[in-house]
Amino acid sequence: MVEPNYSFARKIAKKVIKDYKLTELPTELTKVFQKLGLKYIELNEPEGIDGAIIEIENKPSIAYLNKAKPIPRQRFTLAHELGHIFLKHSKRDFYNAEESREIGDEETDHAKPPQEKEADAFASELLIPNDKLKQYEADINNIDKLSSIFQVSKEAMTIAVMNYWKYSRKTKKRC
Ligand SMILES: [Zn+2]
Repeated sequence: MVEPNYSFARKIAKKVIKDYKLTELPTELTKVFQKLGLKYIELNEPEGIDGAIIEIENKPSIAYLNKAKPIPRQRFTLAHELGHIFLKHSKRDFYNAEESREIGDEETDHAKPPQEKEADAFASELLIPNDKLKQYEADINNIDKLSSIFQVSKEAMTIAVMNYWKYSRKTKKRC
């Protein structure tokens, strides 16, 4: 099995943030949809999927959002789908965070195809940019506060913070 390329996924997410001028928090996903020319549809289906980006004639055309689901989950789902687009993954899927959960769960993580892991890494960097997280270093252990600022789930936030420490330790060593 091909290994997921996390650093590439994060690099592309950083590029999207820069190119699309996503300066605000929480990350303005609708701005990305607009620039991509995606139609944006909100539905309310408690039993439905979290969200999806639907292709028409092989072109991403509609961003579909399920308002019946918690906002952080919708946002992660859509950011994940954007990951597939920007990382040029050929096959799109219907992502359901409830079933496939988010990044970091050891057990299901191993079974996840590399493209799914890359899309998750992209979503994480898009929604929780490392340099923005740095600005909140004083609150770094306050997961509740951070997850509400970045509008992500506590699980996604915890993983981002763990990665943040891992990364900053690495850079310290290099100095
Ligand atoms: Zn996916």
